[in-house]
Amino acid sequence: MRSAEVVIIGGGCVGTSTAHHLIARGCKDVVLLEAETLGAGSTSKAAGGIRLQHADELNARMVQRSLAEFLRFEELTGVPIGFKQVGYLFLLSSEEDVDAFRRAVTAQRALGIPSEVVDLDTVRRLVPQVETGDLAGATFCPSEGYATPEAVVQGYAKSARRGGATVQVGCRVTSNRSCLRRRPSSSMWRAAPTASPLAVLPGQERPRPDPVHPVIKLATLPLTGSGRVRPGGAAPSVEALTSSPS
Ligand SMILES: Cc1cc2nc3c(=O)[nH]c(=O)nc-3n(C[C@H](O)[C@H](O)[C@H](O)COP(=O)(O)OP(=O)(O)OC[C@H]3O[C@@H](n4cnc5c(N)ncnc54)[C@H](O)[C@@H]3O)c2cc1C
Repeated sequence: MRSAEVVIIGGGCVGTSTAHHLIARGCKDVVLLEAETLGAGSTSKAAGGIRLQHADELNARMVQRSLAEFLRFEELTGVPIGFKQVGYLFLLSSEEDVDAFRRAVTAQRALGIPSEVVDLDTVRRLVPQVETGDLAGATFCPSEGYATPEAVVQGYAKSARRGGATVQVGCRVTSNRSCLRRRPSSSMWRAAPTASPLAVLPGQERPRPDPVHPVIKLATLPLTGSGRVRPGGAAPSVEALTSSPS
């Protein structure tokens, strides 16, 4: 039976990134097991948004590090991810939202994130198709954008393999003893979200199952600030969100 120092269950962006970063830090004996194909889980269903505008400091700092990595991803891994830095424009329909986003922008700017509260003239300049009549405000950050999540997975997996990791697809882990025998020196198991009970080591308590991540399919519709787009306007390339800034 094969053994390994580190076994990663799941080949989505988290599993493949973990493999890549462990290899980059000198860990040689890494095995990643993927039940289907790389990226087959929620990664392949993601819209691909990469945004820095978060309300809490921890997320903001994490995505700053992610952004730095995405900007040099091809150089790091050899795989292009099609990162387009078109910016994120949040459209806000109430003064309450504007206040909350203004506070978030202040905190983001203190971390060096170039987000800003923008007026409605700027919104119309950025996206002429948007009907701004019933908007209260907006925020914009030009460093944000979108990329191809599946390419991120392929890049990390390619890099991990190149560094000596074993990446095995079509291998569903059904128990924490089914595929690999744990070495006494093994220090870490990384599970896919749906596979976290499998990461329990002997003597540990089983964690509660992770909540299911809903997948919401969006049709391509003209952008709305709060429901409308100018007649004849084409769908713009920026994302319109009216949710909280978290
Ligand atoms: C560039 C990028 C942009 C993104 N943009 C957005 C966005 O705009 N909006 C958004 O909501 N999210 C976005 N996301 C996040 C995305 O929606 C997911 O949350 C994220 O990709 C989940 O990755 P994961 O590796 O944790 O899980 P998954 O991709 O689900 O990977 C888990 C893998 O584990 C495998 N697996 C499960 N059980 C087992 C088992 N027993 N044995 C072996 N394998 C198993 C599955 O087959 C699956 O491939 C983005 C991600 C990226 C990389």
